[in-house]
Amino acid sequence: MKLVFATNNSHKLEEVRQILGDRFEVLSLSDINCHDDIPETGDTFQDNALQKARYVKEHYGYDCFADDTGLEVKALGGAPGVHSARYAGDHDSEANMTKLLRELEKKPDRSAQFRTVVALILNGQEVLFEGIVKGKIATERHYGDGGFGYDPIFVPDGYSETFSQMSSQGKNLISHRGRAVRKLAEYLKQL
Ligand code: IMP
Repeated sequence: MKLVFATNNSHKLEEVRQILGDRFEVLSLSDINCHDDIPETGDTFQDNALQKARYVKEHYGYDCFADDTGLEVKALGGAPGVHSARYAGDHDSEANMTKLLRELEKKPDRSAQFRTVVALILNGQEVLFEGIVKGKIATERHYGDGGFGYDPIFVPDGYSETFSQMSSQGKNLISHRGRAVRKLAEYLKQL
């Protein structure tokens, strides 16, 4: 079964392909020749994920799914949240992490969570799936071989390594996107 994943983020694609396995051929936006800057103007992850999926369906005709993800930090009232990508400017992960570490400098509570919402449009129906992983923001970056975005400063609860220091399989097992995409996979299997 072919399904479009409304992203060109190679890290996300790899994570999702690993989870969905051989039963699904996951196509990216560039695979369907979509190079548009898809609007993401919603106030919630649900709104943004639906906006992306609907855009692909309306303009390209494909059934598809889209994700919207963000990091919610308790001491910052849930920020950066839906603004995670542009927290310090424009899609600059290093600048985003620098800003977040600075904001948390004198805050004792470093709890945070990643939240992903996946919106699926299939056979005229819209379905949402959510995944959350709770953890803490480290006091400095810890890089490994993997990950992207805020991964070098996020330590999931029960672990001492950041997401960046985990293997992609290890991250997928417990991550926000892993959880949401496994729910998507369960749903697709029942069809
Ligand atoms: P979006 O879902 O592509 O809009 O992502 C929003 C922001 O969250 C971007 O800055 C991403 O780098 C970051 N982000 C999304 N998924 C992850 C993840 O799995 N780990 C770390 N950062 C992420």
